Order: sequence, then structure tokens, then C-alpha cells
Amino acid sequence: MTISRDVATDGKTWEQVLSESITSPGELSSFFEIEEEKVQSVISRYPMTINRYYLNLINNRGDGIYEQAVPDIREITEEEGLEDPLNEEELSPVPGLTHKYPDRVLFLISNRCAAYCRFCNRKRKVGRPSVVTKETIKEGLAYIRKTPKVRDVLLSGGDPLLLPDEKLHQILGELRSISHVEMIRIGTRVPCTLPQRITPELANLLKGFHPLYISTHFNHPREITPQAALACARLADAGIPLGCQTVLLKGVNDNAEVLGRLMRKLLFIRVWPYYLFQADLARGTAHFWTTLERSLEIMKGLQGHTGGLGMPHFVVDLPGGGGKVPL
Ligand SMILES: *Cc1c(COP(=O)(O)O)cnc(C)c1O
Ligand code: SF4
Repeated sequence: MTISRDVATDGKTWEQVLSESITSPGELSSFFEIEEEKVQSVISRYPMTINRYYLNLINNRGDGIYEQAVPDIREITEEEGLEDPLNEEELSPVPGLTHKYPDRVLFLISNRCAAYCRFCNRKRKVGRPSVVTKETIKEGLAYIRKTPKVRDVLLSGGDPLLLPDEKLHQILGELRSISHVEMIRIGTRVPCTLPQRITPELANLLKGFHPLYISTHFNHPREITPQAALACARLADAGIPLGCQTVLLKGVNDNAEVLGRLMRKLLFIRVWPYYLFQADLARGTAHFWTTLERSLEIMKGLQGHTGGLGMPHFVVDLPGGGGKVPL
């Protein structure tokens, strides 16, 4: 089945694109043959948002983009996996902040995403208003302020870049007022799922808080569109080093040819492939898991496709909070 491309996102603001997202089974069924009750039961547990830009990247039901965005009944029928595979809650001195490695923290400042990825390892949290609040952000900032060994702050979510410019400006400003915070990193999927968000104003705002790094999250070569390239060019031109954290996903990118194309296209848009993750053991995502054996085989195949610049570190984030281990 092919998708009607009557919905142009060009010329619309990112807020408009986001507000026209598909969030109900009824809307979804006008694009794909789906069982509405099943989709409803999945999204009452794990929310769905598919914005029209990302929707338009789907060529066929079941392709690598479809699988990432469209709910699957297996998300609620599979028994395997853990709610909190990386033990982020237990390693949390204050809600929404994980302090696992001595010198750096993971700080959630948003609970919204431009599209809810079905494979998300934080799917227990995303889209839930209570997870990140004004209060948790305040507490997180206070914790960083009183903890001098934290020199690297990794902002995540949800998607930090779904915050309005003023709110981002305020949080970044507070972080920059803390003298022991040497660098700020933003983990975001927006350059991939809603590149319209990377406006010249946003790039200019971010430029004021260097050294600031951005980790993007592309999983499939077809996600690298002219719009995504423009978004990354704006960030790179603002002097922001860009990396990519890709997740190895069955049915999406689990072969060396697809990954090789992805890595080459990333380099072409000035994004440095940083990590390739073995999928975390999050509940509701087992249908995306590859075996470690298969993953290593894919990595080996990838070595033939690209030079060192295009070779991400292949890492497993150990279940239970053991941390990232390169293989
Ligand atoms: C991944 C991660 C980081 C950052 O790790 P790097 O290897 O420095 O990119 C920091 N804190 C937590 C909890 C993480 O999961
Ligand atoms: S954008 Fe990131 S946090 Fe949000 S659903 Fe996707 S993987 Fe999860």
C-alpha cells in the first residue's frame, strides 16, 4: 500500500506539523489497514504520535520507517524485558536525573517526542506528563549545582528540543551559570523525526552555550532527507559537533548494507556516527531484538563498507545499570 502524499509539511512551522500528528487509531486507519482495537490497546499503554513529516517517509506497510512508528500488538503481548532495563530509577538521586558515571549525568527535561518510537527503551516514561515537571527540572539543576564532579550534562527526555526556545534558553542558561559544568550535550531525535524544529533561531540560540554537542538519532538511510540535511547543516554551521546514536533493530536496519548506507549518508550531512547500540531489553520491544551473534556479524560486514570515520562504536548498555560496554 502506498501513502497519499497530499499532506505537505513544507512551509509549516514545527508546532503546526506537530499539532497535526496522528494520535488515534481512527486517523491511522485512513493510511494503513490496521486493527483499530488492537492499536487502541497498545496506545493506551504506550502513546502514539506520528507527525505528518515522519509519516510521509513510510513507503510501505512494514518497511523500516513503518516499523519504528506504527504500534504493534506485540508491544503488549510479549513477556520478555524489563520496565527499566538500565536501572535508571535506582541510579537517580533526584527524579528525572541519572548519575551513573562519576563525571556526567543524564538529565530528562522533556517528556514529549516528535514521534513515539515503538522500540524506545524509555517507553515506560515518554508521553507521561508526570515524569518531567517544572519541579523535577528545578531539582535536577539544584543537584548538578551542588555536585562539583559533574562536568558533563547530557540533556535527554523525551526530546529536549521539543521545549519552546524560551524554556530551553532558560535551562541552558542555568547550566552555563554553574562553573563546574564544562560541556552540555543534547540527545535529540528531532533532526530525524521533525527537522522543521531546527530553525535558524534555534541554531542561533544553541550557539550561545558552547561547548555544546548534539547527539542525533537516525536508524535508517531513508531518514536522511533534504530536510534532515538542512537541519543538520544549520546545527553544524552553528559550530555544534554532531554525533549519531543508532540502535540496531530487527526489521529496520539489521543488515550491513543498510547500515553502511546510513553511515555514509550521516557523514555526508556532517554527522559523525558515535554509537551503534545493541537494543536494550526494554519490555514491549522484544520483536526488535537481534541476537548478539547476529549483531557482531553485521558489524563485521559493516567494516567492509566504510572507513574508520563511518564506524560507530558498537556498544551494549548492560541490563541493570552496568553501563555501556564496547564490543
Ligand atoms: C549513556 C549515558 C551517559 C553518557 O555516556 P557517554 O558514553 O559518555 O556518551 C551518561 N549517563 C547515562 C546514565 C547514560 O546512560
Ligand atoms: S525520540 Fe527518543 S525518547 Fe522519544 S520515543 Fe523515540 S527513542 Fe524514545
